Amino acid sequence: MAAKNLVIVESPAKAGTINKFLGKNYEVEASFGHVRDLPKSKMGVDPQNGFIPQYVVPTKAKKTVSKLKKLAKGKDAIYLAPDPDREGEAISWHLAALLSEEVSNIKRVSFNELTKEAVMRAFDHPRDIDQKLVNAQQARRVLDRIVGYELSPLLWKKVGRGLSAGRVQSVALRLIVEREREIKKFKPQEYWSLRAKLSSLRTSEQEKIFLAKLDRIGKKKAELKNETETLKLKSILEKEEFRVLSVQKKERQRKPQAPFTTSKLQQEAYTRLGFSAARTMRVAQGLYEGVEIGSEGSVGLITYLRTDSVNIAESARKEANQFVKEKFGKDYLPKVPNFYRSKKGAQEAHEAIRPTSAYREPDQVKSFLSEEQFKLYDLIWRKFVASQMTAAIDQVTSIEIVAAVEYFFKASGTRNLFPGFSAVFGEVNRVKKKGKEATEEDDEEEEEQEFPELNQDEILKLHELIGAQHFTKPPARYNDASLVRVLEEKGIGRPSTYAPIIYTLTAREYIERKGGALMPTELAEIVIDLLVEHFPYVLDIEFTAHMEEELDKIEEGEMDWIQVLHDFYGPFEEHLQEAKEKMKNVRRESTPTGENCEKCAKPMMIKWGRFGKFVACSGFPECRNTKPMSTGVACSKPDCGGYLVARKAKGGRKFFGCSKYPNCDYIANQLPTQASDSTEEKPPEADEIDEDV
Ligand SMILES: [Zn+2]
Ligand SMILES: [Zn+2]
Repeated sequence: MAAKNLVIVESPAKAGTINKFLGKNYEVEASFGHVRDLPKSKMGVDPQNGFIPQYVVPTKAKKTVSKLKKLAKGKDAIYLAPDPDREGEAISWHLAALLSEEVSNIKRVSFNELTKEAVMRAFDHPRDIDQKLVNAQQARRVLDRIVGYELSPLLWKKVGRGLSAGRVQSVALRLIVEREREIKKFKPQEYWSLRAKLSSLRTSEQEKIFLAKLDRIGKKKAELKNETETLKLKSILEKEEFRVLSVQKKERQRKPQAPFTTSKLQQEAYTRLGFSAARTMRVAQGLYEGVEIGSEGSVGLITYLRTDSVNIAESARKEANQFVKEKFGKDYLPKVPNFYRSKKGAQEAHEAIRPTSAYREPDQVKSFLSEEQFKLYDLIWRKFVASQMTAAIDQVTSIEIVAAVEYFFKASGTRNLFPGFSAVFGEVNRVKKKGKEATEEDDEEEEEQEFPELNQDEILKLHELIGAQHFTKPPARYNDASLVRVLEEKGIGRPSTYAPIIYTLTAREYIERKGGALMPTELAEIVIDLLVEHFPYVLDIEFTAHMEEELDKIEEGEMDWIQVLHDFYGPFEEHLQEAKEKMKNVRRESTPTGENCEKCAKPMMIKWGRFGKFVACSGFPECRNTKPMSTGVACSKPDCGGYLVARKAKGGRKFFGCSKYPNCDYIANQLPTQASDSTEEKPPEADEIDEDV
């Protein structure tokens, strides 16, 4: 007998997981993401006519839609179960619009985790589609469409063909470009440090050597500018007595942090595991949609991955507390449960990212997971369980030492007295990541050192004075972690947009990865300068943050989405008309290469295009001869005489080929002079990519 009800989710993995919970009265199908969208061939929004979007079924969704219509025929009800956020609500709304001819009883069900209990509870309480969420999503889509669709042709005319600009991406790119300029401008300052290797004079204690750093001279902070100064001071102090001025021991509590939001997960997965933001989201999506766990079958291992909330469901909190008590004992369980506050504006109905059961310990499920799934699950599980545990207690010892009356040295060290949450989430599994942010100063704090028992006024044995040269460092380039952090701090973007922003900028050749660092290309600098000059508010951080707040207000029913679009479009259109006239034309400034076209003999010029610089014939459009830009590196094949040019494979991977292709087929993944800098990255899910123009 055929099922009475049709359930629609976005992905086959999710369909498989849910299908098992619901039984034979329900048929579960996947929509494979969006089934309706703005058209590709035109803007699809008429600002003169109330901004009502003209949605179409994209070619790639046509088959799915006709299948869903067929399945819907004769069903009692359709349950729409896409993910619990604006985008999921919009997908549901589009599905309802397409299927309402077949079935009139269409309901929305949403759940935060793919466990039997949560799914059944949602099906007991189906609701109507929330138009406020849908409108917030429509407003974002239309805003991005307007900006992308109107700015891109302008860039084609003024800079180079094929270029594109996005609303939020351009603001993120501006941050990256400005950071690069700060770094270029930075002049390192020399400074020196002086440290003393000391121990007690008592023979039994002389093995316990510790380091103290010169901190003050008289009442002033010690500042040694150069080697001469340092050597002079060294020769004075070598003959002096070092005396303990004070010994202070203090207990310090280290509290656990809240469970993960999307942005915090992306940051820690980058610093601890070396995962890019896009990779973190791809792996987390798999954990959320369900993994086959032996006889248990497919089950979602974590709650929904796009969230800015740190809330925890009461049932999950109780279970975690029970787990902590059983596994670690009651000293590890706080008397009053830890409570965390979400940042202002976070959606309180949502939850933090957590394991669907604290009892599913990472090692127990390890054999069912891929290596990257295990690493990410382990991180999420530990962060959550630790968030429910007591503080770690450290003993901090600070010693002040004086020499020659006015030279004050400081030493400090930390010893753990009680591990608390750090029994689960310590520093142990922190890996030093390439491209990790450089700190302001070299890290000289000897946090881990142990001290002998010392008394006030005790005279110490000086083993050695160590002077060291340092330079102040420029601000670090952004990486996935620090860019996501700054985007969140400045209120730009939302949990669903951080990873696609970085991915889009990389795919459009506006940024390159060097190690882990994100560097702007020359093309990015040109485009950002033009956009900042002519569209100051679109490129303004506060304005963009304000737009995000307006989208939040649409979701809360406090603002009308069409009005928000009107308010944006008026000034934007004015700037656009002005920019069409006044924006500098970089295309016309293209420089000759000195070579002539082998097809028509006209001079060849260096031009800008969507992949950066390339060489084109000045006889365009009559002659369409183009070549990739030379890297200046000769082809490695003997007697070839060609040079290497950057090319792109179908999947977007970059490689270098010979300019004499197809006569020479030499290829290399890296330029012979370049070290292994390129980090390969898999693209995010198709629906994460903004396909505007
Ligand atoms: Zn030509
Ligand atoms: Zn060659």
